[in-house]
Amino acid sequence: MLNLILFGPPGAGKGTQAQHIIEKYGLVQLSTGDMLRSQIAAKTELGLKAQQIMANGDLVSDEIVVGMIKSIVHNDKQAKGYIFDGFPRTVKQAQALDSLLAEIGEGISQLILLDVNDDELKARLLNRGKDSGRADDQDVSIIENRIKVFKDQTIPVMEHYAKFNKSAKIEGVGSLDEIFERIISVIDKL
Ligand code: ADP
Repeated sequence: MLNLILFGPPGAGKGTQAQHIIEKYGLVQLSTGDMLRSQIAAKTELGLKAQQIMANGDLVSDEIVVGMIKSIVHNDKQAKGYIFDGFPRTVKQAQALDSLLAEIGEGISQLILLDVNDDELKARLLNRGKDSGRADDQDVSIIENRIKVFKDQTIPVMEHYAKFNKSAKIEGVGSLDEIFERIISVIDKL
């Protein structure tokens, strides 16, 4: 299997690039942000728990997100591989993911960081907020909190995979095609 983590701060372009990657490599995309938003839309118990935390730009508990990923990885053994988008966001989540994949005899092939500076992130998110309807994209202080949470809690995930020589960083500013080419050149070396 080819199991990728598409990594980066909010607004780095993970979701957009993931779409192109799944088309080219036939992977299954797992976005915890999208899964949580569907739970909110369906007004499930889990969605109700996550709603306020997401609106503040903080992280939903590791148990909740790991539980969602687990149910898919265990029930979809036919997949050619997964692309994890917005997950793992803490070292605990990374360790849980490593164990889940080990249970099916697999592991992470590569983490790819889309590197984008803070000013560009803020501009992109505010712009996305104009039509995405996402409240967390419409308020500068929430956006700044999400970037801070990324630096404090999520950057260590990259260090976790760097220990196994599995972290790559690419420039995340440029045209969509240029960035996609950079991602392909990392994947094709695997
Ligand atoms: P973005 O990358 O733009 O922040 P996401 O859709 O990945 O967008 O995440 C939106 C929100 O969902 C996060 O700010 C967080 O509250 C919650 N969330 C998503 N994935 C996770 C995760 N793996 N762990 C904890 N919270 C998460």
